[in-house]
Amino acid sequence: MIECVYCNERYDNDEIIYNCKKCGSVLEVSLDVNVSKDIFESRKDTLWKYKEFMPVDESKIVSLDEGGTPFCKCEKLSKELDVELYVKVEGSNPTGSFKDRGMSVGITKAMELGVDIVGCASTGNTSASLAAYAARAGFRCIVLLPSGKVALGKLAQAMFHGAEVLSVNGNFDEALEVVTQLALEKHLYLLNSINPYRLEGQKSIGFEIIHELGWESPDRIILPVGNAGNISAIWKGITEFYNAGYMKDKPMMTGIQAEGACPIVNAFRKNSRDMIPVENPETIATAIRIGAPVSSIKALSAIYDSNGYSETVTDDEILSAQKELAQKEGIGVEPASAASIAGLKKLVNQGEIDKGEKIVCVVTGHLLKDPQTAIDACAKPTQIDADIEKLRSILMKKPN
Ligand SMILES: *Cc1c(COP(=O)(O)O)cnc(C)c1O
Ligand SMILES: [Zn+2]
Repeated sequence: MIECVYCNERYDNDEIIYNCKKCGSVLEVSLDVNVSKDIFESRKDTLWKYKEFMPVDESKIVSLDEGGTPFCKCEKLSKELDVELYVKVEGSNPTGSFKDRGMSVGITKAMELGVDIVGCASTGNTSASLAAYAARAGFRCIVLLPSGKVALGKLAQAMFHGAEVLSVNGNFDEALEVVTQLALEKHLYLLNSINPYRLEGQKSIGFEIIHELGWESPDRIILPVGNAGNISAIWKGITEFYNAGYMKDKPMMTGIQAEGACPIVNAFRKNSRDMIPVENPETIATAIRIGAPVSSIKALSAIYDSNGYSETVTDDEILSAQKELAQKEGIGVEPASAASIAGLKKLVNQGEIDKGEKIVCVVTGHLLKDPQTAIDACAKPTQIDADIEKLRSILMKKPN
């Protein structure tokens, strides 16, 4: 059953619908699962390990073995911040971001529905992922990208997997508005996170965190928030595992936004559920450069219902957290992903996070998605001749 999160109107699972016809709000797939958690143990480490919780036809699955991503304890940062920190490394998915989880389920649903053309608007990763899964499934794929604002790696992926790439003169929010109109006119099947099946795949991040921690909840999950689908999805997954009786507690959902694109934080600060769009969102973290998040109502519910929190970070804080994670822990992530680490540091400094908390930061995309930002953050390589004397003298010097 597909259900409106605002007025609870219900729709059939096979209806192609993105917003409630009665009230216009966002939809979610509701399901009732009753299985023992023991059945997951012997299965391959992909999100389909939890297939009973995926509301699609098993015979139509389109997968690149997404999910089952690394879960790394960060000893140095834990010690510095006086917390117990784990990171869920979503850059290890097939196309390098968590979007693959949503696309696997979304494209499987598209197979079931028998559509021909799929499409999305994207800040980059959604298009990279959709292009790959559409190729695998054999769909024509149209992607709309905000002109000049997409990181190089993501653009390369979307083009190379054969999507028809349209560069829109406008920002992500404007691109999403026009592609949604195309979808409502039934020209294509929309795979932005307003499609509730996308979030069904992404909720598996929540499943894996709980499973990884031995069927226990961390105290807190921190993640970057753009269009607000992922925080909503993870909370849905956590709630489903909780309701199935797999664990006793739930984590505080903590959403981090860039200072220049923070409509969710603005609403949180007013203790409100009404998101007021930010007109011209701006941040170096292009994946969260979004002014009017479509899943704001779900995200704010997740934050309030979990006794969570929401905070902004600056671009400088994002870039220094990105470097710290790379150089202290060996984990390379794109700027948006580092917002979770930057947010963690800020909330520890503010005393919002308690000493000893068990925290999972979701780092959402791979470092190589945005090579230019990485290169710009480093000194140029030293140019030398292949001369042993010169090399020796360099090695004798301490690095700065
Ligand atoms: C899509 C994306 C986000 C934002 O996720 P939302 O579901 O839009 O809130 C954050 N980081 C990366 C790397 C992404 O690709
Ligand atoms: Zn409704």
